[in-house]
Amino acid sequence: LVSREIHPHDTIVRIGNAAIGGNRFCLIAGPCAVETEERLRESAQAAKVAGATILRAGAFKPRTSPYAFQGHGEDGLKILAKVGQELGLPVVTEVMETADIPAVVEYADAMQIGARNMQNFSLLKAVGKAGKPVVLKRGMAAKVEDLLLAAEYILAEGNDQVVLCERGIRTFETATRNTLDLNAVPYIKQKTHLPIVVDPSHGTGIRDLVPPMALAGAAAGADGLMVEVHHDPAHAWSDGAQSLHPHQLKELSERLQGLLPVL
Ligand code: PEP
Ligand code: MN
Repeated sequence: LVSREIHPHDTIVRIGNAAIGGNRFCLIAGPCAVETEERLRESAQAAKVAGATILRAGAFKPRTSPYAFQGHGEDGLKILAKVGQELGLPVVTEVMETADIPAVVEYADAMQIGARNMQNFSLLKAVGKAGKPVVLKRGMAAKVEDLLLAAEYILAEGNDQVVLCERGIRTFETATRNTLDLNAVPYIKQKTHLPIVVDPSHGTGIRDLVPPMALAGAAAGADGLMVEVHHDPAHAWSDGAQSLHPHQLKELSERLQGLLPVL
């Protein structure tokens, strides 16, 4: 079902009043996590000012350490929905387990499957049935083929509203948090009709590498970007080191306009 040989036309995924795929380019931006309502509002305004059409922020956070901030769960979803409505931005947020799908469906416009859950097949089947668009992130040790087959699980449940996301993979290289595999972008565009966005934030883990790799992702043919931005990265509760300052996102967006027909 994901194959372009069978479905030659680009699938357009509609998330609230935004769209990804086809002949357009979409900027998804926001902080890593919902921290407080006030803090989310400040970071979300930075996303909006830079031209983002979808707001991202996690309420259920997959953290390497059990002692790190785990997200506010359902309370975070409520804050996200409120701030998204205020700014007129649809919201995407991660769902980590099947039991949380009803809450995420209630408050979000799209569900994100994180890298760590890309092959959680019961979760993929359940989001396929939930009737909301899905942003499916590539697992950090997943081949492109594995990503496409993970998407197939969702389409097999009757949901073709799936956005793929290249967010970097683990390699022997340790200079950056992950190795952003931009080969995957044109390869995936050949293989599937589903849109693909690039996440240079998790792909590099280093703030100043985000704008160049974002531009590279766009040049490689991505249908959009997912970028972390924070009003005060030095005090972010997660992923501060890779979060852009608001002015950096604005500058990136202006440089993208020069590269692309539509934003
Ligand atoms: C995120 O988007 O904040 C996130 C946790 O991403 P990933 O699943 O790609 O690590
Ligand atoms: Mn993050």
